[in-house]
Amino acid sequence: STQIRLAARPVGEPQDSDFEFVTTELPALGDGQVLLRTVYLSLDPYMRGRMSAAKSYAKPVEVGDVMVGATVCEVVESRSPKRGVGDLVLAYTGWQTYAVAEAHHTRRLDPGAAPISTALGVLGMPGFTAYAGLLEIGRPQPGETVVVAAASGPVGSAVGQIAKVKGARAVGIAGGAEKCRALLEEFGFDAAVDHRSATFRDDLEAATPDGVDVYFENVGGPVSAAVVRRLNKFARVPVCGLVANYNATEAPPGPDRLPGFLGAILTLSLTVRGFIQDEFVPTRHDDFLREMAGWLRDGSVRYREDIVEGLEQTPDAFRGLLVGRNFGKLLVRVGED
Ligand code: NDP
Repeated sequence: STQIRLAARPVGEPQDSDFEFVTTELPALGDGQVLLRTVYLSLDPYMRGRMSAAKSYAKPVEVGDVMVGATVCEVVESRSPKRGVGDLVLAYTGWQTYAVAEAHHTRRLDPGAAPISTALGVLGMPGFTAYAGLLEIGRPQPGETVVVAAASGPVGSAVGQIAKVKGARAVGIAGGAEKCRALLEEFGFDAAVDHRSATFRDDLEAATPDGVDVYFENVGGPVSAAVVRRLNKFARVPVCGLVANYNATEAPPGPDRLPGFLGAILTLSLTVRGFIQDEFVPTRHDDFLREMAGWLRDGSVRYREDIVEGLEQTPDAFRGLLVGRNFGKLLVRVGED
């Protein structure tokens, strides 16, 4: 197997020298295990957290270990009655070309039901994050305004489209004109605002004439500060991610915004609630798979993928994810599908 191991803990943006490519022999299969060939590797913003030693909701990757990540794999050898050679599975085998895994840690995919890559995106963890965070915490009502940033990515694009299904007005924030066009034309948002534009704050105001009832927080930073000023009384803020901060090495410049934000929570009776998607898996994952499959079939949800070719592209593609170089769900095609 060719593996990418964490060679050093990145300071700021991850550098090539923070990763090490290693070719290694895999152990022989034990009972109940399968040998997996990676087809797609998912790259997700949370991986930046795993590269750091800082305490978080999941254990960091140790220096010298293979970087973690969800994958779609083909079973090439099996010592489990549960999985046959040729099966396609969802696994969590990380940044490598082959891996040995416990069969019961994999989920079989039906390539006839949906393209297998969607198990990492719209029908996978990011799609579920949008579904659970928006419906359990955001609870958009017909006619309300829902705002989401990183809106062309797998979480944000699903948030906007599910908001539309629920009869709300969807406003997406994205970096650049091309992504904003996709929000309107591909994903059916009612308005799109470019956070890189010099007129961002005015554009946001124009796009939210009735204020904001749900702000699905994906990014933090100046984008978040601008949206908070537009929140209505009783607005809900599911706090899903803060990607603007993930490479940060120090507190942002400028005034401390926390007192103002706490003041808004108080005077506007806001609900600000963080979540990690796992929390809702036991109660909502079956509903998600059924409903999302239906929305894909009837065209109310569409998705976009950004696929880079070859494991060797992984570190650079990951760097790009944190600064918006991806356009859609970022995947690495590690081997033939
Ligand atoms: P995306 O594919 O949307 O990639 C991240 C995007 O963030 C970039 O493409 C970029 O888009 C945008 N971005 C980066 N820096 C900034 C910035 N400074 N200001 C504004 N936007 C920025 O990622 P995902 O859809 O996979 O994830 C979206 C968010 O959801 C992340 O914060 C992630 O950590 C979080 N998440 C949380 C989960 C949970 O359980 N809580 C589970 C899964 C994801 P653009 O070019 O438009 O700026």
